[in-house]
Amino acid sequence: IVQCTDIQKSYGTFDVLKGVSLSVKKGEVVCIIGPSGSGKSTLIRCINALVPITSGSILVEGIEVANPKLDKLALRRKVGMVFQQYNLFPHKTALQNVMMAPIHVLGQDKHEVEGRARALLAKVRLAGKENAYPGELSGGQQQRVAIARSLAMRPDIMLFDEVTAALDPETVKEVLVTIRELSEEGMTCMLVTHEMNFARDVADHIYFTDRGVIVEHGPPATFFTSARDERTRRFLSQVL
Ligand code: ATP
Ligand code: MG
Repeated sequence: IVQCTDIQKSYGTFDVLKGVSLSVKKGEVVCIIGPSGSGKSTLIRCINALVPITSGSILVEGIEVANPKLDKLALRRKVGMVFQQYNLFPHKTALQNVMMAPIHVLGQDKHEVEGRARALLAKVRLAGKENAYPGELSGGQQQRVAIARSLAMRPDIMLFDEVTAALDPETVKEVLVTIRELSEEGMTCMLVTHEMNFARDVADHIYFTDRGVIVEHGPPATFFTSARDERTRRFLSQVL
């Protein structure tokens, strides 16, 4: 569903991604881990065309993201994205936040969208909070509204960039449970995360990035126990 081939990204003379290749198959959960500044967010943003790549190829369900004539709306319908900052509209309720894009971007029927939005809020365990404003919700609840909002566009893949990094430990768990449930229902997920237990339990494949390259990757069973790369080993020894 995602195929990145030798992608390079530079800001001026600074090479952030130096030839990254990876693939995500339908239904898989892929985790990207690695030190700060190694290019994880940049990679995720490239896949969603928020950042143009310098060279290489990114195919998302057959759409070439690097194509200058890219139909961004078509891509956005396929790819959902959730960030560390929830970026909800503060003056709209949880339900209105979830309903907005399908109505205003896709022009879908309001009543049909509302039914689906209510079901999505229930799915992320926020039934009863439909009329709450973001300011009335905890960080974890706001993040789950943000997830429901992305799901409302019925994406084929969800990208998560450190969605639990700003949350306190108890609320981290409820957000991770939501992501796990999504994956169990077959949603393809790609996450940048520092949650090693989550990566070990839920990921099908883990990529470790360092200074713009993937230095190690594999299924959790081998990744966590028999990393060959020295930098990966050092990183894991610090976080595990
Ligand atoms: P973190 O774990 O801290 O979120 P990261 O792996 O997500 O780090 P990126 O945000 O992808 O790292 O950034 C990688 C490098 O690219 C950093 O050195 C950063 O300073 C640089 N960088 C990112 N965005 C820009 C930009 N718009 N202009 C210039 N440099 C940038
Ligand atoms: Mg980042």
